[in-house]
Amino acid sequence: MQNRYDNIIIGSGAGGAAAAYQLIQSGQSVLLLERGHALPKDGSTLDVSKVHAQNSFNGQEVWQDQHGTAFRPNEFFNLGGKTKWYGAALLRFSAQEFMADDSYQCQPWPLQYEDLKPYYQRAEQILKVKTFEMEPQLKKICNDLVGNKIDWHAQALPLGLSATIQQHPQEAMHFDGFASVADLKHDAQNSFLEPLKDNPRFTCLTGKQATKLLSGKNRQHIDGVACVDGDQYYADRVFLAAGALHSPRILHEYFQQTGQQNSLIGCFYKCHLNSVVLAFSLSRKTDQLRKTLLLLNKHYPHSSAQTLGWLDGELLATQLPAWIPKCLINFLGSRAYGFWLTSEDSSDKRNRIHFETAKHTRPTLDYSQERLPQSKAEHTQFIRAFKRRLLRAGMLSSARNMPVEATAHACGTLVTGDDENHSVVDPEGKVWGIDNLYVVDGSVLPRSSRVNPALTIYAWALRTAKRVAKRTGPN
Ligand SMILES: Cc1cc2nc3c(=O)[nH]c(=O)nc-3n(C[C@H](O)[C@H](O)[C@H](O)COP(=O)(O)OP(=O)(O)OC[C@H]3O[C@@H](n4cnc5c(N)ncnc54)[C@H](O)[C@@H]3O)c2cc1C
Repeated sequence: MQNRYDNIIIGSGAGGAAAAYQLIQSGQSVLLLERGHALPKDGSTLDVSKVHAQNSFNGQEVWQDQHGTAFRPNEFFNLGGKTKWYGAALLRFSAQEFMADDSYQCQPWPLQYEDLKPYYQRAEQILKVKTFEMEPQLKKICNDLVGNKIDWHAQALPLGLSATIQQHPQEAMHFDGFASVADLKHDAQNSFLEPLKDNPRFTCLTGKQATKLLSGKNRQHIDGVACVDGDQYYADRVFLAAGALHSPRILHEYFQQTGQQNSLIGCFYKCHLNSVVLAFSLSRKTDQLRKTLLLLNKHYPHSSAQTLGWLDGELLATQLPAWIPKCLINFLGSRAYGFWLTSEDSSDKRNRIHFETAKHTRPTLDYSQERLPQSKAEHTQFIRAFKRRLLRAGMLSSARNMPVEATAHACGTLVTGDDENHSVVDPEGKVWGIDNLYVVDGSVLPRSSRVNPALTIYAWALRTAKRVAKRTGPN
C-alpha cells in the first residue's frame, strides 16, 4: 500500500465522509483513517438491550466534568461515526442563524446562508432527504397540540430515510438511536462512502486511531499523520473530522509538540440544551415511525420540538430504575409519545474541553448551563409552554434534561470565524496559521441553531472540500 496521498481525512462521520466524497469527485486521492470498524450486520445494532441497556456500541473513553466526576460521553467510534445512530432529521439552519445574536450571546458565522445553500441542496440530494406523512395517532396529537393556536407552527420533519422503511417494521421502529441493518437509513457511510468503495483513488482504513499530526518543512506545514499503532501516512493536505470532542485534542497535541499557542482550541463547546418530554394518555400508541413532526413557536425563536421515534416498555425500562415493576413500565411505554425539545446554547468561552495535563488527568468537558442564562431561561420556558399544550391536549407529561454525557450534538470546539484572534479556523475551513490543515466536522460551528446539526456539517464539509480541490486541482 502506498503511504502518500493528496489528502488524509481523520474520521468518517458526517464531515469526514462528505469531504472524502467531494475530494474523490474532484479527482484527488484520499486516505480515510477511521478509529473504529464497520458495524456488524447481525441485527445486534437493532437490539434494545445491547444498544440502550448495555450501551455495547458506545465509546469506552472516560472523561470527567468540571467537578471531576467521571462519565462516558455518548460517542460512537465506528465507520460512519454518530450518523449510523442518528435520527436522520436533516434540517437546514435558517439565514438568521448564521448571523450574530448579541442578545442571546451568539457569535456569527463568517459566511452567510446563501454561501452554504448550494451545498445544503447537494447534501439533501445525496442523502435523499424526504418528508413522510404523519401517522394517524400523531396527526390527532398534532391537531390537539396546535389546533388553531397561531403561536405554534407544525411542519413535516425532513428525514434521511428510505421511502420503503415502513415496509420493515423492525427498522421503522428502530432508526432513531439505532443503526440500520438493511441500510434503510441514509447515513455518512451509506450515502457518501459506499459510492467510493471501488474507486482506486480512495483508501479507507478502519481500526486506525490517529494520534499525531507530523510537522513538515516547518511547523506551519503538516506532512502527515501518525496512528496509535505507530503507522505513519503522508499527504499534501490533512482534514480533521474526528468530531468536536476529538479533533481539538489532535490539534492541541500538535500545537504543544511544535511549541505553538492558541488559547481558543477546545473553547466554545456547544451541544444544544436538550430535553426529552414523554407524553402519556390512556390510549395505546401504535404509530411506528413517529419522528415525522417538527413544532416551532414564535415566542421561542431559539427552540424547536420534534417527535422521537418508537417507544415501548422495553425502551422505557432502559431509562428507569430497575425496581419499578415491569408491568407498570409496559403500561406506560405502550401509551407514551416522546418529544425531543432543543434550544440553541449561547457561546461562552468557558464552556470548553480541557486536555489531559497534570491538573486534568482525564479529558475534561467543562460545560455549565449556568453560564448561559438566556438559553437556560428560554429552554425552561419552552418546556413549560409545551407541557401546558400537552395537558390541554389531554396528555400528562414528564421532562428530563440531557446530562453532560449526552454529546450527540457536540460542536463548536474549533470555531470558524473571519478574525484569527477570535477563531481557530478561517472561512475556507483552514486552521489559521497552518498552510494545509482543514477542519470539516462539527467542531467548526460557531452557532448551532435551534435544529439538529448534521446537515450543516455535511454541507460545510462539501463546501470546504470543493473549494480546496478547486484551488489545488486534480493530480
Ligand atoms: C443517537 C443520536 C441521534 C442523533 N440524531 C441526529 C439527528 O436526527 N439529526 C442530526 O442532524 N444529528 C443527529 N445527531 C448528531 C449527528 O450524528 C452529529 O452531529 C454528526 O454525526 C457529527 O458529525 P461529525 O463529523 O462532527 O462527527 P462524528 O459523526 O462523531 O464522526 C467522527 C468520526 O471520527 C472518528 N474518530 C474519532 N477520533 C478519531 C481518531 N483519533 N482517529 C481516527 N478517527 C477518529 C470517530 O470514530 C467517528 O467515526 C445524533 C447523534 C446521536 C448520537
